[in-house]
Amino acid sequence: MQTILLIEDEQKIARFIELELTHEGYTVIKAEDGRTGLELAEKGGWDLMLLDIMLPGLNGLEVLRRLRKSSDLPVIMLTARDAVMDKVTGLDMGADDYITKPFSIEELLARIRTALRKKQSAALPMLTVGPLQMDIARHAVSVDGTPVELTGREFSLLQHMMENQSIVLTREALMEKVWGYDYVGETNIVDVYIRYLRGKIDEAFNIKLLHTVRGVGYTLREDRHET
Ligand code: CA
Repeated sequence: MQTILLIEDEQKIARFIELELTHEGYTVIKAEDGRTGLELAEKGGWDLMLLDIMLPGLNGLEVLRRLRKSSDLPVIMLTARDAVMDKVTGLDMGADDYITKPFSIEELLARIRTALRKKQSAALPMLTVGPLQMDIARHAVSVDGTPVELTGREFSLLQHMMENQSIVLTREALMEKVWGYDYVGETNIVDVYIRYLRGKIDEAFNIKLLHTVRGVGYTLREDRHET
């Protein structure tokens, strides 16, 4: 379950947001002033913060400024209609998004989903082996910046090999990891997919990353010494 910290001093608005978000399956914890909100935020464990700007004590921009010293928690600002400067300043300070009051709950939910998705994909690593790059979140592979089109299975196989670069992987290990325990068939399916990958990467770009280790299996590594 995803947990949202809501810092909003207007109790009617806060209660309305809490009710709607709880209904959508989020856990909502409220704070009514900036100082309490910041303290809660700094304790961590949140997935997202909804931050009103006009707050007693510390205002929202100050909360954001202090929070950003130690946290990249996604923050959506709740701003007044005319507060253009607040929006600009807030975004400059590292807010992820803002929503202008009054807003519909559908719009708020959509922005929350977007911010949470962005957070998730940012957490996925970029894999690099020599000129070969894999962006797991975008399901994209490139060699020296040139995109390489892979099927789902080719992508999974390459991902596993990139995550274990320079390690020799047996056919059985690759089978188990990429095709699953339940796969009934010959392990030479691995050889077939290695050939596909070689065609699309090594041969297409005239490089050598996929190496056969005779009698054992395969390894992916950058080999600068090979001609
Ligand atoms: Ca307020």
